[in-house]
Amino acid sequence: MRHQRFHGRYEDSERECEAEGCREPGEFRAPGPRSPSFDGPGDTRWFCLDHVREFNSGYDWFAGMSPEEIIEAQSPINGWRRDTRAFRADAGADGLPRWADFDDPLDAIGMRASQLRARAAGRQAYAKFTLREQEALGVMGLDPQADRKRLRSRYSELVRKYHPDRNGGDRAHEARLQRVVEAYQLLRKAAAFA
Ligand SMILES: [Zn+2]
Repeated sequence: MRHQRFHGRYEDSERECEAEGCREPGEFRAPGPRSPSFDGPGDTRWFCLDHVREFNSGYDWFAGMSPEEIIEAQSPINGWRRDTRAFRADAGADGLPRWADFDDPLDAIGMRASQLRARAAGRQAYAKFTLREQEALGVMGLDPQADRKRLRSRYSELVRKYHPDRNGGDRAHEARLQRVVEAYQLLRKAAAFA
């Protein structure tokens, strides 16, 4: 069987999408009625990308994900099929849950999918800020999901921490305090906090 392992897309021209009336090549695997287990890979159904998304949306794992993310989330199926799960050299290397941590490969896929979604959400949250504002968030140790209230409370927390009046006149933190003040001045006017 000829397939591109790294994308989870099987380019086997023999197969046709199993969705009724669809004539597209069936290049994507979906679990059939029998789940994969240690006894074997389970039943497999084959769909085109549109129909595998439709099929998968019934599982609610892939809702709102891009085709690339779906493909990435599906790739463990290939790994499972070809390698002994627990001994994959790259197990866990991407920081996502290890394949071997789950009894049921489908659980692993679902977990990876939700973590990929969370990563995408994190990137999206940062996208609301300019680069300078993102730096300022870093100076203040804030995550991009912080709201205006959190911004204010973090600011007063840091001012208390670094202000010389609070440190027995010690000016050691002066530069740090200055950066915090500048970061706050920038962020309080940021569109994301409007
Ligand atoms: Zn189709």
